[in-house]
Amino acid sequence: MGRSVLVTGGNRGIGLAIARSFAEQGDSVAVTHRGSGAPDGLFGVRCDVTSAEDVDRAFTAVEEHQGPVEVLVSNAGITRDGLLMRMKEDDFADVLDANLTAAYRVAKRASAKMVRARSGRMVFISSVVGLLGSAGQTNYAASKAGLVGLARSIARELGSRGITANVVAPGFVETDMTAELPEKRQQEILAQVPLSRYAHVDEIAGVVRFLASDAAGYITGAVVPVDGGLGMGH
Ligand code: NDP
Repeated sequence: MGRSVLVTGGNRGIGLAIARSFAEQGDSVAVTHRGSGAPDGLFGVRCDVTSAEDVDRAFTAVEEHQGPVEVLVSNAGITRDGLLMRMKEDDFADVLDANLTAAYRVAKRASAKMVRARSGRMVFISSVVGLLGSAGQTNYAASKAGLVGLARSIARELGSRGITANVVAPGFVETDMTAELPEKRQQEILAQVPLSRYAHVDEIAGVVRFLASDAAGYITGAVVPVDGGLGMGH
């Protein structure tokens, strides 16, 4: 029987590939969006993850439509790059809010029903940058590193209730986010990736789907790199 899955930022990019991957195997999949509407075949809820009210409303809508969330994928994220010396405090705070505090918001909202069900899967989309660091991305890297502490703490707090919490740390993926990088920067990145290419979104989705599957029932608190070898050793 299909499970109730919620993917934040599942209206496009990596999130959409993750949402489609769950839908293909027969799960009921809801995605958040901020006005674009839901892609075909997916249930859409309007939600800005920086708003606790929006998050609560979105979960209520998902619960009414397909039952309590059994698989939560916290994927929505932003970048606001700049060198430390020039970075405005708002740019730091906004990225932390959208990437890390939002993950806490959705995990918290999902947890009560998962605890009651004595089962649940949470997957947080981090980044290789959270482990390696990245010049010009102090805000983004800090937010993505924070997801590791968040997920591992949830794994410890809620493990006895049958809930797993894992992190997927993609390297560079073919999406809008990477298409915006200057050509020179793209070449520099590829030179450091042992597999010499970007990831396809489906290669991230497959790992997320695995972590939510029965086969991954004994995996919790893990950080799974999907980075073509870029972050090896971290
Ligand atoms: P995109 O920029 O293509 O999409 C970002 C998604 O996040 C969109 O769905 C966007 O919604 C949503 N989003 C952003 N802010 C909010 C918000 N406040 N409330 C609700 N939704 C929001 O990103 P990617 O698909 O590339 O990235 C997805 C995740 O993967 C991110 O967490 C990113 O950091 C991470 N990642 C990406 C990598 C890459 O190479 N692309 C590498 C490593 C990690 P909307 O359409 O409304 O803007």
